[in-house]
Amino acid sequence: CPRLVVKIGSALLVDADGNVRREWLESIVADIAARHAKGQRIAVVSSGAIALGARRLRLPKGGRASLEDAQAAAATGQIALSQVWAELLGAQGLTAAQMLVTLNDLEERRRYLNAAATLHRLLALGVVPIINENDSVATAEIRFGDNDRLAARIGQAARAGGVILLSDVDGLYTANPGRDPKAALVPEVGRIDARILAMADGGSDSGMGSGGMISKLAAARIAQSAGAHLAIASGRVLHPLAAFADGGRCTVFVAPRATRARKAWLAGRLTARGRIHVDAGAVAALGKGRSLLPAGAVHVEGRF
Ligand code: GLU
Repeated sequence: CPRLVVKIGSALLVDADGNVRREWLESIVADIAARHAKGQRIAVVSSGAIALGARRLRLPKGGRASLEDAQAAAATGQIALSQVWAELLGAQGLTAAQMLVTLNDLEERRRYLNAAATLHRLLALGVVPIINENDSVATAEIRFGDNDRLAARIGQAARAGGVILLSDVDGLYTANPGRDPKAALVPEVGRIDARILAMADGGSDSGMGSGGMISKLAAARIAQSAGAHLAIASGRVLHPLAAFADGGRCTVFVAPRATRARKAWLAGRLTARGRIHVDAGAVAALGKGRSLLPAGAVHVEGRF
């Protein structure tokens, strides 16, 4: 795919002592440079600000003991994170750009289109955007909280053909592999139905990031509705993008054909102003792509 979004989890960027895993980072930057030279354009969604900042400020619980701690840790860690990305990409002759976004920047249509335009311009200029949630201002109620769904939304905004979530797990398993020895990797998923959802359990095992398998499945849904394939692959190896391209273990969520951009954006929203309850006739009509008529609405909640 000509445009790719790569999400990197905190546990890959930062070691247990809170230092940047430089050698690993150099290896993925080399992968990015190799793909860039072949014409692919990559946007990186980089976690790690909170984990890095918490160490520098000596905050307990990885900086996640309170919202204020997390915000201070994010503000402190983000500047270090940007610096290391800019330095390592620069060493490969690439220019880094930073975009910090909040949930509402992508949930409000006008702001979303504005952020998307910036992203397109940066990619067209051959720059590598490094994106994170603006955690130092985002409050609990109005934040993504995990970079998995953020990466899928960025994939949609960038009109990327693929999104790769690199983390400490190498894919979706039929059960939690840490607890069930019979758990098997699922290499490919089409529709994310109840059977697939039942395979995931919440929470991040590394204790550093906030995304678990549930947020990865939510991300896969957003990507699929935008027509982008999404892969969960291991970042535990050096040169993780090269390993992925060489057929490394992963789960790929295959996207059906893309829905129209505005509909995909609507479907990928994380917040809603209200609800419309519809009758069975309206359910059938909507399923065929028809419009909702007033007669089909039985109850409305919220003001919008
Ligand atoms: N935005 C958070 C950070 O930079 C990470 C969110 C996540 O764990 O997915 O630390």
